[in-house]
Amino acid sequence: MKLEKFSECARILDPRKGFAETSQVIEIRVDPLTGGISRINMARELRPKQEIKGLETPVPPDCPFCPQNIDRDTPKFPEDYVREGRIKNGGATIFPNLYPLADLHGVCVFTGAHKLDLDKFSKEEIMEGLKASKEFFRIGTERGAIYHFLGWNHMPNAGASILHPHFQLIASRSGLKGERELFEACERYWKREGRSYWSDLAEERNSERYVGEEGGILWVAPWAPMGTYEVIGFSTQRASSLVALDDGGLEALSEGIVRILKGLWELGVRAVNMVVYSFPESVEWFSLHARVMARPSGATTDKAFLEIYGSEVGLTAPPEAYAKVLKSRFRS
Ligand SMILES: [Zn+2]
Repeated sequence: MKLEKFSECARILDPRKGFAETSQVIEIRVDPLTGGISRINMARELRPKQEIKGLETPVPPDCPFCPQNIDRDTPKFPEDYVREGRIKNGGATIFPNLYPLADLHGVCVFTGAHKLDLDKFSKEEIMEGLKASKEFFRIGTERGAIYHFLGWNHMPNAGASILHPHFQLIASRSGLKGERELFEACERYWKREGRSYWSDLAEERNSERYVGEEGGILWVAPWAPMGTYEVIGFSTQRASSLVALDDGGLEALSEGIVRILKGLWELGVRAVNMVVYSFPESVEWFSLHARVMARPSGATTDKAFLEIYGSEVGLTAPPEAYAKVLKSRFRS
């Protein structure tokens, strides 16, 4: 049996060591049967955990992402990566993850508010976060890390260890496994059907799953959602990546995200995961898109044997039902 592993090394200027340069090794193991990937970084065991204690959770004075602490308590990139140490755009700041899962793993804090409900995010905050992320990915591209993954865990039930809202950014040379599988599926569809999946998906405008459209980004509830209340927002203008999106595109995407979050809040959702998928070059078979799904608010998880070991999803809400509620957020 071939036990394959390789490693990535993240360099950071560590605030716990007077911003001296330190490095962390991430061990990446490949499952010999399925090609599954495990990323192991034992330092992540030390991550601080912020918990919700009822509705009136006090703001911990030592939150590293709060405005009064961020410059002192978050790491900086080495000078050869980002000369100023951190990337700033308006109210957004990007610094390297103190507990990385990849060699280029950034964290983007895009609001000064420690805890924000889903109906309180502003278009400006999300846009400043996306703009700063675009700059992080642009720098990654210059260094050969051409694949750009933006993820968001909002609230502990969605996997956030810190409540303070933040995106996570991974720039890599070959893409995460899920990215690679997505690109392969899109290319396969294009070869098989002679059309892009994304131009076909635009036909959902006429279906009960249509949610709305905002500046060239179309939002639909997918036919087979991969999670509760899942929605997809994709570029109808064939933009392929965040890096390729101009200010108008970033604004449209941000506006759409904010509307979706407000609609989800109305549906009783309190925790979400979001991803933005990008492809490094403009190709006919891929469009930039975001996916957002709700995560449970109570004590019960929504990932059980079916999801974890069956690779299928068990749901109670059909997309046609919740698309109706989300749609009302797009009639401006
Ligand atoms: Zn905070």
